[in-house]
Amino acid sequence: MICDICGKDKAHVRRVTETYGKGKNLLLIENIPMVSCPDCGQSYFAAETLHEIERIRLHHKSFAVERSVEVAKFG
Ligand SMILES: [Zn+2]
Repeated sequence: MICDICGKDKAHVRRVTETYGKGKNLLLIENIPMVSCPDCGQSYFAAETLHEIERIRLHHKSFAVERSVEVAKFG
């Protein structure tokens, strides 16, 4: 896929786990698609991915699975 940063057709998607917040509000989201470009070395989330992350964070009580920390799956 095309890299948004350098415009070359080298980017690919890999799935990552990110944590948001801290303490009791710590939320771990697994399986988030991150665009990674080996050509320019940048990794970033697409706009719609960031939007979805925001949505999950706002509604994470219904997405989350109880573990030692709350965990939500992307998509
Ligand atoms: Zn790039």
